[in-house]
Amino acid sequence: MSCIRHVYQMFIRSKQEKLILKKCSKQGKMNKIITQNDEQIQEIPDLEITLNQTTQVSTFDGCLSKKKMLALDLDETLVCSKLQKPANYDFEIAQDDPSQNSKVILYVATRPFLEQFLDEMSKYYDLFVFTAGLNEYCNAIVDKIDPKGLIIGRLSREHCRMVNEYKYLKDLKLIDGYEMKDKLLLDNSPYSIELQPENGILCPDFYGSKHDNYLLTVIDKLIFLSDVPDVTLVQK
Ligand SMILES: [Mg+2]
Repeated sequence: MSCIRHVYQMFIRSKQEKLILKKCSKQGKMNKIITQNDEQIQEIPDLEITLNQTTQVSTFDGCLSKKKMLALDLDETLVCSKLQKPANYDFEIAQDDPSQNSKVILYVATRPFLEQFLDEMSKYYDLFVFTAGLNEYCNAIVDKIDPKGLIIGRLSREHCRMVNEYKYLKDLKLIDGYEMKDKLLLDNSPYSIELQPENGILCPDFYGSKHDNYLLTVIDKLIFLSDVPDVTLVQK
């Protein structure tokens, strides 16, 4: 069982929380977009947006920057979190463990070249995180990996469509203000991009290797995609 599955199991009984999207310099709401064609899929709550005053760009309406949007998965894409202390990790976070009514420490390795990747991608895209992890976990990780506030929105498990305990689908329609031709999701899980595979870029799993250079190698492709008329028409 992968390390993140341990984490998911640990938090699976945690109550549902409303997602807070951190945004810059103005406030607003996003409406939910749900296609309820599968009874096993949970209903998604309305998104409420709390703007992050420390973030410099203001692009949530998709009408100011004219950039495309790039949603980034966390686990095994940007970071790898483990319950057992590995030989190499970059930081640790404390998270609630509802099953034990206590805190648990997670050891987090960031994918090599992450800072450079975020710096470069923020020039071409409005950056979001879209994780199947809980909101608390998402915020703890993003606060650490993005001290510059380059990531302008955070979506977490509450905004995934749960098929079963391990299968969470990510619907990019939830992120308002951009046309589907301008939306991308970088993720290591085929499940995550199942709803809109033409908008997805599958990446290799990251399990903490210091020799991983995927983020460096994908920069050129993403810069190219930032300038195409319709990302869904481009083989990725
Ligand atoms: Mg993942």
